[in-house]
Amino acid sequence: MSKFSHIYIEDEALGYPISTRILERFPNAKRVWIGDYKEVFGRLNQHFQIQKRSVKLILAVKKGGYLYRGSDFSQGFGYKNFYYNTLMLNCVYNCDYCYLQGMYPSANMVLFVNLEDFFEATRKAVAERKYKSEPLYLSVSYNTDLLAFESVVPYTAYWIEFADACDDLLIEVRTKSANYKAIKHLKATPRVILAWTLSPRKVAEVYEKGAPSLDRRLEAIREAMEDGWQVRLCFDPVLRIRNWNYVYTDFMEEVFRYLPVEKVYDVSLGVFRMNADYLRRIRKLRQDSDILFYPFEVRGDTVSYPLLHRKEMISSLLEKLTQYIPEERIAVWE
Ligand code: SF4
Repeated sequence: MSKFSHIYIEDEALGYPISTRILERFPNAKRVWIGDYKEVFGRLNQHFQIQKRSVKLILAVKKGGYLYRGSDFSQGFGYKNFYYNTLMLNCVYNCDYCYLQGMYPSANMVLFVNLEDFFEATRKAVAERKYKSEPLYLSVSYNTDLLAFESVVPYTAYWIEFADACDDLLIEVRTKSANYKAIKHLKATPRVILAWTLSPRKVAEVYEKGAPSLDRRLEAIREAMEDGWQVRLCFDPVLRIRNWNYVYTDFMEEVFRYLPVEKVYDVSLGVFRMNADYLRRIRKLRQDSDILFYPFEVRGDTVSYPLLHRKEMISSLLEKLTQYIPEERIAVWE
């Protein structure tokens, strides 16, 4: 993240140390004072992909909603106390299949600076969680990629330190970033799962714009595993591209040739799916990505590949994965 031409700052956000740090980091950015981030972020008629060419940063104070119950779209890995939070809105990368393009009116990035309020709400939720025999499972890199933004603000490190000191909390940090060195100085803790999303080389090159290559992600993962971190591998979303079966099975072989399989904490596998309204909106914004124009099947408010295709993809790739990882450690989203 080299620069922002503009930083919008809620008046209320100014007093926070994170705001000060960011304003010092980008001294040449034009500063624009605002009352509420929604004035900028929620404006009508913004074009997500045009804004992606020159993303602006918005510093805001979140008022309530410090954590949310997980939904069916997200994966709770069987944890009953499953929550996520939104420390940032939007992501430095620009994957073709990203639902954020359909969910948010703007591609600008909102960073919530009142981290202590999130921590306080999390402590309370841990204490009040319904299923006391299980930890509170919290996804902290939701609707963003926190580690990819670590050079600007070290939120991943802050959350790892927080989780390490908080009994009965387990956090997942999901990322495509290769920036493991930003958290390497921290001690591995069983209260954190580092979850890397992986795609075949050519999928990453074509459809995961701005994200690190497969090779760089694999290097980061191997280093994290060697340092003792619990690492989750996410093969999700699997895309039905030409020769998908060959491309994905070949890719999985490569992944497990490179990574020490005994150090994989668990795996998730899922095919592309999205909220139907989001996809409708995204298709209006961009016609440049073939994967968005597949003749999907609509089920309720979700679109995905037709049932037969989904079953075929999952069964073939599950068969491949179970050559390396026991099935009980693979979470599947069909
Ligand atoms: S890394 Fe995730 S959040 Fe970021 S653009 Fe890609 S799909 Fe969206």
